[in-house]
Amino acid sequence: MVLEKANFPRDKSCGGGVSPAIAKWFDFDFSPIVENHVSQVKYTFKMGDPAEVELQDVTPMWMVQRDRFDNFLIEQATGKGAEFKSGIEVMGASLQGETWQVETSNGTFTGKYLIAADGANSSVAKLLGMDVTPTVAAASLQVPGDVSDRRKMTAFLTSAR
Ligand SMILES: Cc1cc2nc3c(=O)[nH]c(=O)nc-3n(C[C@H](O)[C@H](O)[C@H](O)COP(=O)(O)OP(=O)(O)OC[C@H]3O[C@@H](n4cnc5c(N)ncnc54)[C@H](O)[C@@H]3O)c2cc1C
Repeated sequence: MVLEKANFPRDKSCGGGVSPAIAKWFDFDFSPIVENHVSQVKYTFKMGDPAEVELQDVTPMWMVQRDRFDNFLIEQATGKGAEFKSGIEVMGASLQGETWQVETSNGTFTGKYLIAADGANSSVAKLLGMDVTPTVAAASLQVPGDVSDRRKMTAFLTSAR
């Protein structure tokens, strides 16, 4: 069972670059959600100091849209029998004997195993008392636009600690 607080498909701030090397770990075809193949990357720092890299001798990187990509993964899981419950926030988790009890915004669920896959700010990890690295606030902006050179990706870094 997958418990997800957002309603899918949902946007997620991400560059959308995926290494094709992941394909070997999955028994399904990713091509329906690979939007583009990139073989050149241009990195800039504060919009300057550009470095252009040609991805030579490696398979071009996949580019995905996270709303479609993440939804596709969920569809693969549900196709294999997983139950997907969206719009449900996990608010508590504890081990009762050999059973995990998970408190959510929509009732309590139990299971033999609990996998915390709730991202970098994992509230489940915090609930379980794990040391979660302090986060740094950042802003991201996703804008639709025409892509002049579909082989090329530009990565901007605007500040560094
Ligand atoms: C601007 C930016 C650009 C990036 N670009 C790239 C890139 O090009 N390539 C790359 O590989 N990585 C990139 N990343 C990193 C990548 O996005 C993350 O590594 C990846 O999303 C982590 O996946 P995850 O499944 O662990 O967590 P997430 O993708 O964050 O998924 C966690 C899910 O858990 C849900 N959730 C959270 N809390 C709860 C709760 N309490 N109850 C229920 N559900 C909950 C969230 O709604 C979310 O759907 C980028 C990140 C950012 C911010």
